[in-house]
Amino acid sequence: MKIESRLAQIGSIKEPVTGAVSFPVYQATAFRHPKLGESTGFDYARTKSPTRSVLEEAAAQLESGDAGFACSSGMAALTTVFSLFEHGDHLLVSLDLYGGTYRLLERIMTKFGVTASYVDTNDIDAMNQLVTPATKAILIETPTNPLMMITDLERVCSWAKSKGMLSIVDNTLLTPFFQRPIELGADIIVHSATKYLGGHNDVLAGLIVTKGQELSQQMAFLHNSLGAVLGPQDSWLLMRGMKTLALRMERHQANATAIANWLLTHDAIEDVYYPALPHHPGHDVQNRQSSGNTGIFSFRLKNAAYVEPILRHIKLIAFAESLGGVESLMTYPAVQTHADIPAEIRQKIGVDDRLLRFSVGIEHADDLIADLAQAFDAAKRELGEA
Ligand SMILES: *Cc1c(COP(=O)(O)O)cnc(C)c1O
Repeated sequence: MKIESRLAQIGSIKEPVTGAVSFPVYQATAFRHPKLGESTGFDYARTKSPTRSVLEEAAAQLESGDAGFACSSGMAALTTVFSLFEHGDHLLVSLDLYGGTYRLLERIMTKFGVTASYVDTNDIDAMNQLVTPATKAILIETPTNPLMMITDLERVCSWAKSKGMLSIVDNTLLTPFFQRPIELGADIIVHSATKYLGGHNDVLAGLIVTKGQELSQQMAFLHNSLGAVLGPQDSWLLMRGMKTLALRMERHQANATAIANWLLTHDAIEDVYYPALPHHPGHDVQNRQSSGNTGIFSFRLKNAAYVEPILRHIKLIAFAESLGGVESLMTYPAVQTHADIPAEIRQKIGVDDRLLRFSVGIEHADDLIADLAQAFDAAKRELGEA
């Protein structure tokens, strides 16, 4: 069955008693045992819970994995995954990384003796130089946020396998609708489901999908032991959001492409970073390994002085952190999402004070372009340029 059909039908044929088309919220933490030594399959809700289970099975299936685990946030999912590692272990990690993941690795995992090196995941020579016998895994974001750098997943996952390392992919930006890294060789997928999967800027959640029985069992143990699991109400909300993922992703992509092309023609803009644009360095790899493009991109202004007035004058587009929802949001990565990344690394990857990130929603592209145009005009007027 095609992915659009599987998404729309999440949970709809699972409830045998009433036939409810929307799978119910089982708000229960304890489950009655039929008799000694018997279980309905549910014992205590941290370990397994009915509404969450339906979501987890759907996630595993959509990502072509063997098991899914729903967590209370994307960071909870990453914490659970990183708990696979032990004192002395080392990780390779994408250079242009989500700020919260960098903070978790540098401020918390280091306390447990797990260290990370940040590398351009297209530079196999640089990666070879950083690998030691202690290097257990590589964590890849593709596209990265905010600079939208693309990693060739097939190439890097097979390189990692040859070194005996696990490949972990944060697939938040593309979702399984556009990209399925396990099919390209990855072992573990993580999601901030708060973003496109939930899609409505109203539920905080994370997902993990594992490939292979041993890894799936290890992750089930960690998920239950750490306990950063998703509750039944939020599991239901996430499934409700995922049912429309296909429609939303197509509209996000169409809007983002139209707006990125419009921005390229604007005289306030130095460059637009979006893999759908032919001049983007990752364009060809992205087209090969994914069936579409995400709805976020970044753009660099010619003058940092435009930033403050633009953020003050946008009306339809909200000045807010986060991404992936139906409402358009704009962020200033250098002071918001990426503030925890040292200035030196930020400069190296290009997250500077002229860079804005746009999470394009599903409003009409013409209205979004009109909002940007009036904000740019107002900024220029205030600076005496128009
Ligand atoms: C938001 C985000 C996270 C963290 O997820 P939360 O749900 O906010 O905890 C991790 N990775 C990426 C790529 C993100 O965008």
